[in-house]
Amino acid sequence: MNRRDFVKGLSGLVLSSSLYSFESTSNCPKEHSIEQLFNWEKRTIDENEWCNINAYSIGFRIGDAILVEVEPKKDMDFIRLNSKMQRSSNWNTPLEDYSFNSNFIYCNNKAYTLTGTDRFCPMQNLNLKLKITNNDFSLFSKKQEKIIQEYYIEINDRDWIIQKFGKLDPRFTRKEKQQSTLTLEQIEAAKLYALERQKLETEELPKQWRHDRVSHAILEGYANPRPYLMCSDLTYGARRFNYFYDAKGKKIEGTEKEIRPHVGVDCNSSSDYQKPITAAMSGKVVFSEKDLPLLGSTVMIDHGLGLYTIYAHLYNSKYRAFFGKEVSKGEIIGSVGKTGRVYGPHLHFHGKLHGLNINPISLEILNKVFKQ
Ligand SMILES: [Zn+2]
Repeated sequence: MNRRDFVKGLSGLVLSSSLYSFESTSNCPKEHSIEQLFNWEKRTIDENEWCNINAYSIGFRIGDAILVEVEPKKDMDFIRLNSKMQRSSNWNTPLEDYSFNSNFIYCNNKAYTLTGTDRFCPMQNLNLKLKITNNDFSLFSKKQEKIIQEYYIEINDRDWIIQKFGKLDPRFTRKEKQQSTLTLEQIEAAKLYALERQKLETEELPKQWRHDRVSHAILEGYANPRPYLMCSDLTYGARRFNYFYDAKGKKIEGTEKEIRPHVGVDCNSSSDYQKPITAAMSGKVVFSEKDLPLLGSTVMIDHGLGLYTIYAHLYNSKYRAFFGKEVSKGEIIGSVGKTGRVYGPHLHFHGKLHGLNINPISLEILNKVFKQ
């Protein structure tokens, strides 16, 4: 090989390595032009010699998903985002530091990822740490630079609606005589089954939402999971109270107690019990179980980049999407039921982003940025 061929081969290598790192999906969607957009917000986070950084969200409110866009000006081969915030691990526990790392995906020579906050985060600044590695390979020297920038995104407050649920005072409930025909063995088996279902809900399900798979599903956008009914985000984060009422249906004073807020969205649909529920985004079914004590029949889909959607209280039928199934946005994954702890048939629709309980309706921001 002569020197010229060697150099040619080397630059070919360099080219392919930079192409590989910025590999786009084959069907990159076009972006909306500014004029077409409404009901959303774009914030310019930074414009520096390396890149432009923008953030997009429906409202940058507590719980809203935020799409981060990095447009490089130089050859970059590695970008990572670290998001840091203050958060309670539950609604009545003290605030703690919470952080996670996000992978990016590449499209139209831009890099995208998702971040956000949680129902259990107070109004605050979201701290973003962006780590970029730049590979500047010249012919006989290899220079690698690293850039770490820190930014803050101001998170807006939002109102929480109040929901009150009554339950009959136990003093007024007549104990029905249980005429059971079950054998002792059958009762034991039922107890064991209930225990196993509870374990699935409290231990197995949370284990499944902790991955950060690289997937281009966000580019395909978001679709309302009830095709004939708009789901609003009104019930996201709702403050909830329990109280007892007497046999005449009168509230018993002094029994009202605040319980854990609602961290998903309820799509009420009592009139269309058993009507279809569809995948809000493309992804892979990573959990599909029935008879969970709170959630009932439940499906969870992994959309990559740490994002998951959960569909609960589904009707128990063979049409529930099975574990491991690859589903497309808009594909039927189950139907409206009233399984688990419910007051009536409805879909409980839940968004998880790196363990945060995000407002799943705010994923509409994807349709505002990427043309479908
Ligand atoms: Zn709910």
